Amino acid sequence: MKVGYIGLGIMGAPCVRNLLKAGHQVTVWARRRQSAEALLAAGAAWADSPAELAGQVELLITNVSDTGDVEQVLLGEAGAASGARPGLVCADMSTIAPNGARRIAARLSEAGIDFLDCPVSGGEVGAINGTLTIMAGGKAEALEKARPALEAMGQTITHIGASGAGQVAKACNQIAVAAGVAAVAEIVKLARACEVDPAPVRAALLGGFAQSRVLDVHGQRMIDDNYAPGFKAKLHAKDMHIVHDTAREQGISLPAAERAMQLIDQLVAEGGGELDSSAIARLIWRQN
Ligand code: NAP
Repeated sequence: MKVGYIGLGIMGAPCVRNLLKAGHQVTVWARRRQSAEALLAAGAAWADSPAELAGQVELLITNVSDTGDVEQVLLGEAGAASGARPGLVCADMSTIAPNGARRIAARLSEAGIDFLDCPVSGGEVGAINGTLTIMAGGKAEALEKARPALEAMGQTITHIGASGAGQVAKACNQIAVAAGVAAVAEIVKLARACEVDPAPVRAALLGGFAQSRVLDVHGQRMIDDNYAPGFKAKLHAKDMHIVHDTAREQGISLPAAERAMQLIDQLVAEGGGELDSSAIARLIWRQN
C-alpha cells in the first residue's frame, strides 16, 4: 500500500520500519526533518507538509502525542484534510480522548475521509517486533482497507466498535496497567514488611491466578529499583486523565483508577515524568 506516516518517535519510527520491511511504500512528514533522516535512509520518502503527504497516499497514519496534536496535523493549516483526495483513510495510533477521536472523525467525514482510532498496547518492544495490540474504532470497511498495513505493525487487531470505541478500549487498558502497577508495588511492600523476599513471591505468583505482564515486567523493575522507561510517567499521566475525564462525562466513579492517577500525577510533580510510570512504587513504599 501507499502509506503516509506522521509521528516518528519511540512508537512511530519502528512502525515505519516494519511497514517498509513488509513492502509498503511509505512517505513521512515530521515537524523536525531530523527525526525522519534514519527512516529516509531506510527507504521512506519525504513530503513537505501533511497536506502534500495526504495527496499521495491511500492510508495516512498518525502516531503523535495528544488530542490537540492529532487535530493540528489532520485539520490544522496545511493539515492532511486540506490536501487529501476523497477515499483517504486516516488511522490514528496515538492515545487520545475518545470524544476527541469522535470529533475528528466527524470533521474528516465532511471531506470524504474515513477516520479510524487505532490506539495500541505493547509498548516500544511491541512496536519494534511488530506485535502491537491494535484497538480500532470506526467503520469496518475502513478498517479492512487499512488492515494490510496494520498487520505489518500489530499481531492482534480488534474492531471494537464505532468511532471512539478504540480509544475507550485503550482507556480500559490503562486502568488495568495503572491499578496493576500500584497492586504490584503493594505486593513488594507487604512482603518486605513481613521480612519475606519479594523475588520468590513474584516468581510464585507468576504461576498462579495473579499472573500478569504487569507483575512480570514491573515486578522485576521494582525488585531491581530500576525505572528506566519503558512507558514514561508523563504519558501515563496523560492517559489516566483521559480515563478520569471520560468517566466523569459518563457520571461514574473509578476509585482504583483515580488513586493510581493521583500517584502518577504526584510522581510527575516531583520531577519523575521521564521515569517509567512503575516508579510510583517509590511513593507507595515511602508511606507507612
Ligand atoms: P514520542 O516518542 O514523544 O513521539 C511522538 C512523536 O510525535 C514525536 O516524533 C513528535 O515530534 C511527534 N509530534 C507530537 N506532536 C506533534 C505535532 N503537533 N505535530 C507534529 N509532530 C508531532 O511518543 P511515543 O512514545 O512514540 O508515543 C506516541 C503515542 O503513542 C502517544 O499518544 C502515546 O501515549 C502512545 N503510546 C505510547 C506507548 C509507549 O510505550 N511509548 C505505548 C502505547 C501507546 P518531535 O520529535 O518533533 O517532538
